[in-house]
Amino acid sequence: MKIGIVGAGISGLATAQALRTRMPSAEVTVFEAAARPGGKVMTERMTAGYICEWGVNAFLDKSPPTLELCDKIGIDVLPADVSAKKRYVYSEGALHQLPEKPPQFFTSNLLSLTGRLRVIGEVFSGRAKKDDETLEEFGTRHLGREAFEKLIDPMASGVFAGDARTMSLKSCFPRIHEVEDEFGSLIRGLVSLQKKARKAGKKDKPGPGPGGILTSFENGMSVMTDALAALLGPSLKLDAPVTGLVHEGERYTVEWGAGERDEFEALVLACPAHVQAGLLAGLSPEFGRLVGEIPYPPLAVVCLGYERGAMGPGLDGFGFLVPSREDRGILGTVVDSNVFPNRAPEGRVLLRTLVGGARRPDNALLEDEPLLDRVRGELRDIMALHSDPEFASIYRHEKAIPQYLVGHSHRLGRLDKALGRFPGLFLTGNAYRGVSLNDCVVNARKTADRVLPAV
Ligand SMILES: Cc1cc2nc3c(=O)[nH]c(=O)nc-3n(C[C@H](O)[C@H](O)[C@H](O)COP(=O)(O)OP(=O)(O)OC[C@H]3O[C@@H](n4cnc5c(N)ncnc54)[C@H](O)[C@@H]3O)c2cc1C
Repeated sequence: MKIGIVGAGISGLATAQALRTRMPSAEVTVFEAAARPGGKVMTERMTAGYICEWGVNAFLDKSPPTLELCDKIGIDVLPADVSAKKRYVYSEGALHQLPEKPPQFFTSNLLSLTGRLRVIGEVFSGRAKKDDETLEEFGTRHLGREAFEKLIDPMASGVFAGDARTMSLKSCFPRIHEVEDEFGSLIRGLVSLQKKARKAGKKDKPGPGPGGILTSFENGMSVMTDALAALLGPSLKLDAPVTGLVHEGERYTVEWGAGERDEFEALVLACPAHVQAGLLAGLSPEFGRLVGEIPYPPLAVVCLGYERGAMGPGLDGFGFLVPSREDRGILGTVVDSNVFPNRAPEGRVLLRTLVGGARRPDNALLEDEPLLDRVRGELRDIMALHSDPEFASIYRHEKAIPQYLVGHSHRLGRLDKALGRFPGLFLTGNAYRGVSLNDCVVNARKTADRVLPAV
């Protein structure tokens, strides 16, 4: 049984691992365009001693399939420092700590008194009148404009580098959509779910946040994708971009590298949707268009290292997000060395700032000098950080994170229908049913389940 996989990001690598575990006799080949595996998992150990994560920084330890996969391949996870629970939002000239527990919400001055009272009024907000609404429509209806702008909008840019005015609540945060659907109100839903958990004697009760502990590895996120790649041995072909796809009878022929061809009984596309689109267009133009319309705005990651003593007060906790209404030049900054202390050498601090995304794509594409000036200017205003960094490095993702806009779920329905005409062909990756690394691992498993009965 010959199975091909295109793309060795976490989605392709985890699919290969699941297939090989369940069907050891299967001959699985993974094609990767780059010289290294991992895709958007990309840790770089810099000569200055800093460990920079240019893509995925961490995952939440609440998704068993990711932890099981780490266990199976023999890699030890590293939980974030407890202080990483502390997070900030920049609003109206100051950093405000995000409430960790409901009572803190009432004493926090992030929202005005009217804004806080409006949030309590959420219990009367009711269900959506349409099937798919934007994060902005959902957020303002449930929590009011102020809470939407200061809490939900920065979350949209922090997680997706997205624009809450166009993102689909249902596709980006399906669990929240389900709670709304069942209970009408998030507050009523939360109270009821907590009661249920208490009755069932569960230790972990649902809370207002995503839950779980941020987790990585001692030497950064690439530990996971490197370990998965090593298990594949010569079945993983690096520097091997797939350039074409032909469907004949029950077989798929993959054209790759400098004109080489391989034939497979089943083929999984795990490369980004904008690449899948080009490959699928040859099979059916409609197929190519459906996948190619998923936008991937650019994002720049700027890492700055400072001597701790020269930094001034600095910032405790995870870092901060900046709501769009502040109209600043950055989306937010993570103090990486607070979250995982070995990301900076002894006595140093590593800051990682995200720039660009769906609302300000132009910012991500600035030249190095203006980009660094922009970031340093913003850190001066927001964190009172006046000293010069001893280390600076930039990575630009021209196409960073896929955006699930309103209508995404319909697109998935149409795609499933189109796929029905191509038995043996499967699509996976972060463009479809969840952008997080945890989602990619869950969907890789599901993809392997669909491949095996099909072959
Ligand atoms: C800056 C940034 C920060 C992020 N931070 C987090 C985070 O902290 N936590 C989290 O959970 N998620 C985070 N994410 C989301 C992350 O994108 C996904 O969770 C996940 O890494 C995506 O994996 P993937 O395998 O689906 O896609 P990718 O990682 O994009 O992998 C696709 C692979 O396909 C390859 N490819 C492309 N074209 C071809 C071709 N023609 N032939 C063969 N191979 C090809 C690519 O080179 C790549 O290796 C972040 C994303 C970005 C951009």
